[in-house]
Amino acid sequence: MAFHFEILKKDETTGARLGRCHTAHGVFHTPAFMAVGTQGTVKALTPEELREMGAEIILSNTYHLYLRPGHERIRRLGGLHRFMHWEYPLLTDSGGFQVFSLNSLVKISEEGVQFQSHLDGSRHEITPEKAVEIQEALGADIIMCLDECTPYPASHEEAERSMELTLNWSERCRDSRRREDQALFGIVQGGMYPDLRKRCVEALGGMGFDGYAMGGLSVGESKERMLEVVSRTAPLLPLDQPRYLMGVGTPLDIARAVLQGVDMFDCVLPTRNARNGMLFTKGGRLVIKNARYADDDSPIEPGCSCYTCRHYSRAYLRHLYLAEEILAMRLNTVHNLHFYLNFMGEIRQAIAEERLKDWVKTCYAQGASEEENDPGEPDPWGSSFPQKLAGKRNPAPVRAASMK
Ligand SMILES: [Zn+2]
Repeated sequence: MAFHFEILKKDETTGARLGRCHTAHGVFHTPAFMAVGTQGTVKALTPEELREMGAEIILSNTYHLYLRPGHERIRRLGGLHRFMHWEYPLLTDSGGFQVFSLNSLVKISEEGVQFQSHLDGSRHEITPEKAVEIQEALGADIIMCLDECTPYPASHEEAERSMELTLNWSERCRDSRRREDQALFGIVQGGMYPDLRKRCVEALGGMGFDGYAMGGLSVGESKERMLEVVSRTAPLLPLDQPRYLMGVGTPLDIARAVLQGVDMFDCVLPTRNARNGMLFTKGGRLVIKNARYADDDSPIEPGCSCYTCRHYSRAYLRHLYLAEEILAMRLNTVHNLHFYLNFMGEIRQAIAEERLKDWVKTCYAQGASEEENDPGEPDPWGSSFPQKLAGKRNPAPVRAASMK
């Protein structure tokens, strides 16, 4: 088995851990952020550019690749690593989250989930066995169990039924795997109910997975609620295995979850926001289209070492964005991903030097100054989720379902 997780250091005063994860395609360091490459590409960037900015592991979406170009085709062409020219650690989700979030005609049964393609209306069924089969054909280093993302809000009874289904599916995923060079992660569900989350952790732990994810979060609940569930769930997970918080989040969300002992994250925020002209800086957001940047010759963030900040001014980036030039998306994505990956590097450094708590406090202090930065715009540091979507049956595809 190629997969192995090493904990290099545990923070004395918090739950944070510094680690190293060995996979069939090399090593990644934790806490880690995985850029989202929905269609087998992190939008607007080449693998070389990703690697240059320090990406060690990326994520791709099973649902999209299954529908187009098809997992069997990717297998015939040598697997996803070769197909997309990324030779390093790669994770695929199970496809379940996208089935639920991108389709209105979804039927869930004990057997699996039936749905119609969002592309052409064709009918499909994904069972736990099928989810593993597809992910084995794609060949990522870490694959995920099929789970049901518990809707929010859900009653205790609904969340319990949903969690039981996830447990049943998880066991079937474990039993159907054939490849031994891939790690399989179980996903903890249970809605916002600590007793259900605890039961789910115990049952999954008994099945024996290579790592554990927390799912069903960042689906419309308040940030406080999300962090409370994380803080009560993460400590129950096996100490010596990686913990992955799916679909989270803003830089501060990530920092707070690291304090609770989470090792892995993924989110579309840095890439999607880049394409919408929203740039992350230490002082908060920067909305590049704002008139105040029309004559601004400074980089997005003075001192940032990314390619974009080394060569281009806010004024030029604003011009590219308003002119709808392709380069705007590329340059903005370079900066935002650099920001996230650099942020994770600083977290790891702070854990190594036993000053994580102080470092997080400094982040808060800097983030607070954003209020004067761009008044009236959505606040990416404060909310990873549009409030108007709260409570809908289908969680908005913040996690990784970006279509455009
Ligand atoms: Zn930059």
